[in-house]
Amino acid sequence: MARHVHRVKVAALTEQMPVPEAELRHLHVMRLRPGDTVQVFDGGGEVGEAELLSLDTLSAQLRLLSRRTATAEYPQSVTLAVALLKGDKLADVVRAGSELGAAAFQLLRTRYGDVPDIGDNKLGRLRRVAEEAARQSQRAVVPAVLAPVPLTGYDPAGQVFYAHPGSPVRLLDVLTWAAPVTLISGPEGGFAPEDLAHLSAIGATPITLGPRILRAETAPLALLGALAASGV
Ligand code: SAH
Repeated sequence: MARHVHRVKVAALTEQMPVPEAELRHLHVMRLRPGDTVQVFDGGGEVGEAELLSLDTLSAQLRLLSRRTATAEYPQSVTLAVALLKGDKLADVVRAGSELGAAAFQLLRTRYGDVPDIGDNKLGRLRRVAEEAARQSQRAVVPAVLAPVPLTGYDPAGQVFYAHPGSPVRLLDVLTWAAPVTLISGPEGGFAPEDLAHLSAIGATPITLGPRILRAETAPLALLGALAASGV
């Protein structure tokens, strides 16, 4: 049976690294011993192998054996900008979206959104979900989860697309990897006229996800799914 290689998130890849407190429990659960090898990643794109030098209940030290820059990322950063959603739906979007390669999640407040705002606790939880999903899918970059901004004030750089039922344009026909990509999807109630006026004013391109109406938590994953299925 192939041995599972444990992945540890560290603050930075240095010759000797302390294991952050939050990661210690995993090492104990995995019954690792000094001399064992683990993978390390810094969440910013650097990954490597490290040897466990010491481990006790309060601390552990690692020694870096090798390092490289991660390749599991899209050629440009892809931001998923998603309207606030009720209940656990955002966590589901962040989990699957992290597996599908989003570099960041920008939460959006919209007129027809079913949740007006999100608390710090919930934001912290979404960040942990992103970290865990990045680890699971062997990414070296932990996607950022950015606190909500109003859609009508959002103007990201690069190529901006928004999912809009009825648009004749397909994402993969218009996206290039020449600049960072932002994909926007709306709330269950759809975009309000002022949202659409703003999207048009910033030059965002409306795109289709097919003739079916998707739920607000499905549409963002369909956007990223198109990129993932292109094999990039
Ligand atoms: N009643 C709303 C539907 C909202 S669905 C309306 O008619 O606009 C929630 C969000 O998912 C939409 O704002 C849009 O961004 C996205 N979406 C759902 N189905 C889609 C489709 N077939 N094509 C493009 N975007 C879609």
